[in-house]
Amino acid sequence: MPELYLYHPVFRQTFAVFAFLLGMMVGSFLNVCIYRIPAGKSIVYPPSGCPLCGHAIRWYENIPVLSWLALRGRCSGCKAPISIQYPLVELLTGFLFLMAYIEWNLSIDLPFIFIYLALLIVIAGIDIKSQIVPHVLTIPGIACGLLYAYLAPGHSFLYAVAGLFIGGGALLLVIVTFYLVTKKIGMGGGDVMILAMIGSYVGPTKLAPVLFIASLGGILFFFAMRLLSGKRRIAGSITADDIKGSEHDLDRVIYFGPFLALGGAIMLFVSDDTIIRLLTF
Ligand SMILES: [Zn+2]
Repeated sequence: MPELYLYHPVFRQTFAVFAFLLGMMVGSFLNVCIYRIPAGKSIVYPPSGCPLCGHAIRWYENIPVLSWLALRGRCSGCKAPISIQYPLVELLTGFLFLMAYIEWNLSIDLPFIFIYLALLIVIAGIDIKSQIVPHVLTIPGIACGLLYAYLAPGHSFLYAVAGLFIGGGALLLVIVTFYLVTKKIGMGGGDVMILAMIGSYVGPTKLAPVLFIASLGGILFFFAMRLLSGKRRIAGSITADDIKGSEHDLDRVIYFGPFLALGGAIMLFVSDDTIIRLLTF
């Protein structure tokens, strides 16, 4: 049984390091996706360069986190600052991949979990930067969630389908209710797709906690932003450009997508048993 060796501590630790490094490399690619997908650019070609001076990024300038530190967060060509988003996304992906390996070991689950976590990070990143949720990410994500349930032992395909429809349906209901009460659209169709994708992966049981985390995060963020913009208005320095994304952002009263992704990532690591135990406490 080769599996016995795979659980040896030395192998476990080696694979854990690999999982972290793999996550950092994937995170580096996710940064490219976050930047290029909303712009409608190819994510494979051309190779990355500085958007300001066109300086081609050499291989040693493309090592996750370390290169950013070595360059002190500046382009080696024109010294333009490189966003801290780059090392943060790399570290976050590395950390989540490591957590996933610790939880799922080398199993058929692991590649599907990696894809799920990577998609959540890209979706959150694009939503934060561009206020859109691309279907090219959520639809393959849903397909992946269903395939995962179909292939992995101990998973129910019907459960995943239920998660998909309850996830999408529940949020649609929230949006309609919110609209009827406030005459404002609190969330977009993209958020429905995100929760449908999360549902196809984690199943219907975890959807309520995901929504709870997302709502709490969204509301806290909303009030924090109001507080901040209020202060800026007092300072008399706010302009139309300051309201990022102008009309589009004003439509979306509550900033929801990234918090759905956060909830979806957290609840992946919480078992159904734990939820049931908490609910029946
Ligand atoms: Zn440059």
